[in-house]
Amino acid sequence: MSRPVPKPGILDIAPYTPGKSGSEQPGRVFKLSANETPLGPSPRAIAAYKAAAAHLEDYPEGTSRVLREAIGRKFGLDPDRIVCGAGSDEILNFLAHVYLGPGDEAIHTTHGFLVYPIATMGHGATNVVAAENNLVADVDAILKAVTPRTKLVWLANPNNPTGTYLPFDEVKRLHAGLPPHVLLVLDAAYADYVSRNDYESGIELVATTENTVMTRTFSKIYGLAALRIGWMYGPEHIVDAVNRIRGPFNVSNAAMAAGVAAIEDNEHYEMSRAHTERWRSWLTDEIGKLGLEVTPSVANFILIHFPHDKGRTADDADAFLTGRGLILRALKNYQLPHALRLTIGTEEANRLVVEALGEFMRRA
Ligand SMILES: *Cc1c(COP(=O)(O)O)cnc(C)c1O
Repeated sequence: MSRPVPKPGILDIAPYTPGKSGSEQPGRVFKLSANETPLGPSPRAIAAYKAAAAHLEDYPEGTSRVLREAIGRKFGLDPDRIVCGAGSDEILNFLAHVYLGPGDEAIHTTHGFLVYPIATMGHGATNVVAAENNLVADVDAILKAVTPRTKLVWLANPNNPTGTYLPFDEVKRLHAGLPPHVLLVLDAAYADYVSRNDYESGIELVATTENTVMTRTFSKIYGLAALRIGWMYGPEHIVDAVNRIRGPFNVSNAAMAAGVAAIEDNEHYEMSRAHTERWRSWLTDEIGKLGLEVTPSVANFILIHFPHDKGRTADDADAFLTGRGLILRALKNYQLPHALRLTIGTEEANRLVVEALGEFMRRA
């Protein structure tokens, strides 16, 4: 019997497995598994979203103009060089759609974001993995992985799920080592949380080169993950190509309105940044004191490493914490079976995690 057959590559993709939501768990649950902000969006974004309900019969403005202009004002960018999408996921898929096809290769690092291989293989191209150096992207390894077939390099900076980053010098060295026809995609979803003066999100490299794109999201610090808003900043020729395949109404009116309100609420943004910074360093210290290794993070989550002996493994810790309504992200499908990723939560959630991990370590 004959039936429709997916294109080559599609069935080689491992289905994306999201973190547990904790909804099966009785009692109070703290979802610390998806890098969502514990502080919610700006109240002004919620108000703008509600106001948009009055006009649900209207198609959105097709170029996300008001949102691109608001982003342009915030970052000092030309709105014509910005494309908005239904989450940065959609933008990443646009880039793969435009630049990758059968016979092409795209590189990402060992613990790169799972959307990269999906976007690469979904467009029939081949995924190439470059080793990291102690959970940090390794520029030399990426450059060594380049072949005549390479068309694109995906780099999350900071990276999820490791929380590590490459300083701007290293990103520039990576760019300088790539052939000019290879697209460098800098996924800066967590840029808002970085407070290192050797970091640059990608704006400068996009502005000065013809083969770099930076992607950003409203899902993390702006707390609008449910609305699906992401954007890219790129050279004119890339923006032009992406706009040709972009669906004409890919961002809803309600999302645009909420996004504009969110990006204009600087106070909420600064509060979220300060909260993250304070609790990131507290959690890193306190969990370290329990004898667990924590990878130093510049993002809104931390990576906790567990011993390999029975009773003390990441699996055991995951079960123990879940039993207390603390839902962390297991990372087996990121090839980190001995680690759990903890999203920085409210003060209450953070304290409960440290308390529970303390009990777990004493008990085990
Ligand atoms: C969360 C995240 C994003 C954002 O995805 P959206 O589709 O915008 O919600 C992008 N890249 C990485 C590495 C992420 O962790």
